Amino acid sequence: MPDGPSVTVLPDAAPAERMVHGSFEFIIIGSGPAGRRAAIQAAKLGKSVLVIEKGRRVGGVSVHTGTIPSKTLRETVLNLTGWRERGFYGRAYRVKKDIQAKDLMMRLHMTLDHEVDVLEHQFARNAVRTITGMARFLDPHHVEVEIEREGSKVFHGERILLAVGTRPHRPADVPFDGRTVLDSDEIVEIDHLPRSLTVIGAGVIGIEYATIFSALDVAVTLVDAHETFLDFIDRELIDEFVHQLRDRGMTIRLGSKVVAIEHEHDRPVTVLESGRRIRSEMLLYAVGRMGATEPLNLGCCGLECDARGRLKVDPNTFQTTVPHIYSAGDAIGFPSLASTSMEQGRIAACHAFGMKLPPAPEFFPYGIYTVPEMSTVGMSEEQVRKQNIPYECGIARFRETSRGHIMGLSTGILKMIFSIATGRLLGVHIVGEGATELVHIGQAVLNLKGTLDYFIENTFNYPTLAEAYKIAALDAWNRMARA
Ligand SMILES: Cc1cc2nc3c(=O)[nH]c(=O)nc-3n(C[C@H](O)[C@H](O)[C@H](O)COP(=O)(O)OP(=O)(O)OC[C@H]3O[C@@H](n4cnc5c(N)ncnc54)[C@H](O)[C@@H]3O)c2cc1C
Repeated sequence: MPDGPSVTVLPDAAPAERMVHGSFEFIIIGSGPAGRRAAIQAAKLGKSVLVIEKGRRVGGVSVHTGTIPSKTLRETVLNLTGWRERGFYGRAYRVKKDIQAKDLMMRLHMTLDHEVDVLEHQFARNAVRTITGMARFLDPHHVEVEIEREGSKVFHGERILLAVGTRPHRPADVPFDGRTVLDSDEIVEIDHLPRSLTVIGAGVIGIEYATIFSALDVAVTLVDAHETFLDFIDRELIDEFVHQLRDRGMTIRLGSKVVAIEHEHDRPVTVLESGRRIRSEMLLYAVGRMGATEPLNLGCCGLECDARGRLKVDPNTFQTTVPHIYSAGDAIGFPSLASTSMEQGRIAACHAFGMKLPPAPEFFPYGIYTVPEMSTVGMSEEQVRKQNIPYECGIARFRETSRGHIMGLSTGILKMIFSIATGRLLGVHIVGEGATELVHIGQAVLNLKGTLDYFIENTFNYPTLAEAYKIAALDAWNRMARA
């Protein structure tokens, strides 16, 4: 809590007649990845920084309901189910029989406490001040914070960053009850594991949870109105992924429009346009998220958001149309990742205080922590084809690597796409164990404008899954030599 060093009374406009409890060079609203990285960056530049967070603890959606909880849940599920060992010991193998929600929650809370602790320490070390309360604008430089038991306080910010993130989209006709029909913030706090789960929405969040619960032997039905999903991912990867999901018994209903969600005997029933009724013990509604900009009172500072609550910014500086007000992270929309939000926050802070940065690299990786995980960087085969670039692909299967044999992997592929004219790497797409880590090798080569030769000429540690890069490169080289 700031102790309010500079108490000023502002002269003119009506809202500013209120007592100002502190003046800061940088006020950041939201302590998620974007706010956190921006705060530390500005503090490192010697600026006075105030972070306002409405949640009880700092960290944002990323720490409390999104990235870290879902990834911790995934890791716990993979460990307790013995998922990674089943290649050797069979599908019936389990490390712990009768896994319960409390087994998952214990590790979740330990991880979250640690994350918050690290973040609080980081703020304290860098003299970033934090305050707990809901923030709203009074005018373009004044922010009012509603603090529990203390009432409201007003702060002046020379520059302001809106890093308010998103909240789940909760349509009025979906009967959310926090128990049988849940959104993606609520699913991390369930008190028992369902025997069956319907997931509506085959976006990244819906698919991640669908596959995590399916790994727990929960009967999962995934429903989406569209005929395809994760369209930014290479189709060959998705085909392999879907094959694995169906092979383990998951039901995938694409092109299926939901017309109603009802309750029968206290259980949700998903009614499809086709007339089909899908009964399950629990339902996760994961169809999009909305920018959490509504409470900010944006009209007071001349800003507007779109219908989904998102703000428009300059993609290079992250300035809104009001130049001293910046926005970063999920509040500005695509790609809505913790990884990119952090970078945007850092870039915004550097721009706000005149620190020049080189242009951001062209490609960033996308990590999807499904079971099995997927990761991708650069162009998909569909995008390359659309641009009429003559190309060749190379594919490696993890089961072809010695590391894959040691780990008992029967699935997993790494695919690379190269330009035939220049040999330049155009895209890397991986599905399988370690995909989200492995992709960074491809990312480095891609952003350094490397070619097929890098993979052919360099030695890779053996036995590793990274060796798949070499195998895929040789596969592409063989095809190109034959062409
Ligand atoms: C289930 C799920 C899984 C995900 N998995 C991944 C993943 O694996 N990898 C990845 O890179 N990304 C992942 N994401 C996305 C990632 O969580 C977001 O991209 C990231 O959290 C966005 O960061 P942010 O800083 O924009 O905002 P947030 O993390 O959303 O934080 C915003 C903060 O602002 C606060 N706030 C909002 N309004 C106000 C106000 N008026 N006053 C004060 N405080 C306010 C909120 O309380 C919140 O703490 C996942 C998201 C979800 C939901």
